[in-house]
Amino acid sequence: TFRALVVESSDPQSARIRQASLDELPPGDVLVRVAYSSLNYKDGLAITGAGKVIRSFPMVPGIDLAGVVLESASAHFKPGDAVLLTGYGIGERHWGGMAELARVRSEWLVPLPEGLTLKEAMGIGTAGFTAMLAVMALEAHGVDKTREVLVTGAAGGVGSLAVALLARLGYRVVASTGRLSEEGYLRSLGAAEVIERSLLSAPARPLESERFAGAVDTVGGAVLAGVLPRVAYGGSVAACGNAGGPRLETTVFPFILRGVNLLGVDSVMCPREQRLLAWQRLAQELPKPLLEAMVRTVELEEVPALAQAILQGQVRGRVVVRLAA
Ligand code: NAP
Repeated sequence: TFRALVVESSDPQSARIRQASLDELPPGDVLVRVAYSSLNYKDGLAITGAGKVIRSFPMVPGIDLAGVVLESASAHFKPGDAVLLTGYGIGERHWGGMAELARVRSEWLVPLPEGLTLKEAMGIGTAGFTAMLAVMALEAHGVDKTREVLVTGAAGGVGSLAVALLARLGYRVVASTGRLSEEGYLRSLGAAEVIERSLLSAPARPLESERFAGAVDTVGGAVLAGVLPRVAYGGSVAACGNAGGPRLETTVFPFILRGVNLLGVDSVMCPREQRLLAWQRLAQELPKPLLEAMVRTVELEEVPALAQAILQGQVRGRVVVRLAA
């Protein structure tokens, strides 16, 4: 048997840590000894039952995992290989990372990139992977480096990593947060300026003065509605999240009068080629001291309480969960 966090049913109180047996694991061609998982916003929704993330019960949550291959029926992996996995429905429809063992499909696995430890990989996790996909989307649409780029929900996981990556790439980064107490933290990650979230979420005119060449938005809702009118001519917004709500009330004017691009970002089903490229860039371009500064490592026992906290916007940066490390 092995230790696992199990959400037993749709009852929000049903998440508990228990022993699970190998024959409870879902089918797959690779068995992984999980060293670390991480806590993302979606895991908060899954563990608390606040969002209908889990598709079948019982479920081991955890949309991320990193560990070492124990058994493999795949020609691409052998016992001892260090691997990571994000998305593809683990922790939603296939048992995920918050257990000492995981059985998964080999085509979902990414070999641990050179230059990263298993723990660093989970410091990055889905949040950092998403931040890199957002950066790549902005780059592909040509962001004017003479202007500022904006990151919303900046003190959260995706936000913190986006700030660090963009600053490292030489952009002047403006970080928007509801927690001005985190200004020092955000500046330490490379933000040139920190603005209060309400400046963006207050009702905006269809077009405000042009400010940002690009934006990484992790919040959605009223904040994204406030970002679009402030994007400069030809600029782009990478929409990653909905921590502030899923609805978007806006006008078409930023699109039709300023040629603004709204770019969708999905990490879960991201194609393999782009996935490998993003992980390679994360391994090479993210400064390790900055990653360390945004990560807190916890035990499995602490996860249910933190699942509540992340939904309330109270978690700073990233949470790594120690399993069989
Ligand atoms: P997180 O660590 O909780 O970060 C979210 C941040 O959003 C919070 O730290 C907070 O930042 C801000 N926020 C929270 N509640 C808010 C509210 N009610 N109104 C306005 N702002 C609020 O979560 P995460 O794991 O980084 O994920 C961020 C978002 O991206 C989530 O919606 C998640 O589902 C989504 N996501 C999407 C993908 C994808 O594939 N598209 C992948 C990963 C994550 P401040 O305190 O700094 O304001």
